[in-house]
Amino acid sequence: MKVQDQDLERIVQQVLQSLRKEGEVKDRSYTKGVFENMEEAIAASIKTQEELRRMPMEFREKIIANIRKKTLQYATEFAQMGVKETGMGRVGDKILKHQLVAERTPGTEDIQVTAWSGDRGLTLIEQGPFGVIGAVTPSTNPSETIICNTIGMIAGGNTVVFNPHPGAIQVSNYAVSMVNEASMEVGGPNHIATSVIKPTLGTADILFKHPKVPLLVATGGPGVVTSILSSGKRGIGAGAGNPPVVVDETADIPKAAMDIINGATFDNNLPCIAEKEVIVVKEVADELIHYMIQSGSYLLEESAVEQLTNMVLEKKDGRLILNRNWVGKDASAILAGMGIIVDDSIRCIIFNAPKDHPLVVEELMMPILGIVRVEDVDEAIEVATILEQGNRHSAHMHSKNVDNLTRFGQIIDTAIFVKNAPSYAALGFGGEGYCTFTIASRTGEGLTSPRTFTKSRRCVMADSLCIR
Ligand code: NAD
Repeated sequence: MKVQDQDLERIVQQVLQSLRKEGEVKDRSYTKGVFENMEEAIAASIKTQEELRRMPMEFREKIIANIRKKTLQYATEFAQMGVKETGMGRVGDKILKHQLVAERTPGTEDIQVTAWSGDRGLTLIEQGPFGVIGAVTPSTNPSETIICNTIGMIAGGNTVVFNPHPGAIQVSNYAVSMVNEASMEVGGPNHIATSVIKPTLGTADILFKHPKVPLLVATGGPGVVTSILSSGKRGIGAGAGNPPVVVDETADIPKAAMDIINGATFDNNLPCIAEKEVIVVKEVADELIHYMIQSGSYLLEESAVEQLTNMVLEKKDGRLILNRNWVGKDASAILAGMGIIVDDSIRCIIFNAPKDHPLVVEELMMPILGIVRVEDVDEAIEVATILEQGNRHSAHMHSKNVDNLTRFGQIIDTAIFVKNAPSYAALGFGGEGYCTFTIASRTGEGLTSPRTFTKSRRCVMADSLCIR
């Protein structure tokens, strides 16, 4: 059959129109689920949610299995894109983060039923989807969060509309496109996740106010979490932290030093759970610093600390804020910015600091650790709790004294408390438990998983179906 010129023209126009509808981007890889405007992204998500909610759990799991497979396949590409676009983090560590998301994010097995069976019949509590979820994602773990959220949300029978961080939009939308591709490859629907080409506060506002989006999930700093919590809808807020790590005199000091440096330098300190300052009992402080240097740290002289402070923080409206140019940069690059040339074996910058030093108080997200010396463990717990600033996010401790560990855990009251390991053990990397990149510190759900994104429904049959 010969295609007539006018038919050919019509087909080309149709293809162009459909491409325009799903985002005017030339690269094929950005077209699946990425829309020009937020209303279209939400409408597509609503349509797919109807399909997904009726789909057998087994089929959702099939989609999730393919998302896992493709995440592993593209881990290096995501990692390279993320570092290139945001200028933050380390490719090797970002590859590990994607592998962790692929292998350790829970799927449909996390959705459990609770049952009461007895004289008066059978009552079940079943977990059902909210519907369409609106999610805001950060620049620090961009594709990791998109993939992790999508797995958890669709496992619960939801679809998700993302308003990704504008500074990581290419890699975020590449992840959106990948999860849709994964779904379609196994016969599932397109638009299990959608997004926009150009996210702004305006597109976020449309998402937050849309009547058919009942649940909002924010992974980011205090601004966005406050914004979703003021929306009048149910909000899950995964906010900022400033995790302290306490070292007491009973700790295995060489191991503590290595664990702290490994945790604090993972992806150049971008993870919200990473060690951000050290509080050490003074009798073991010098020994700790000695082993930290052996583990790849550069000890900054007291006279140079002010120069570092002026470089990585800047004054705005009378207060010090982060200079974003240095967030997630290599320690060697930060030192080079100060005129100090070191080789790449240097992973972290350490310095002795008073407990109220701005580099200790601010959440830097850079491989920089202030070391605060204290008299004893009681003072360490007190100082660490002040520095955590009530975020209730993460805290860590190295100690062999069970009473000290217990006391700190009770007092600091954080969603995550890692003992005698690098902070990333909390994500299932060198520790037990599942992975997530959305830690709902502020609203109390803690480490999110599929069941976090479901609502509870009681289903009662009175006086029947109990077969005891
Ligand atoms: P950010 O707060 O700058 O941005 C997060 C997202 O929120 C972006 O998409 C941004 O565009 C959007 N946003 C900001 N203010 C908004 C508002 N008022 N309304 C709507 N959208 C808004 O975050 P970032 O710099 O990319 O990430 C780092 C921060 O996120 C750190 O504070 C870190 O601790 C936190 N974080 C927390 C978790 C967690 O699980 N708790 C995970 C990752 C990052």
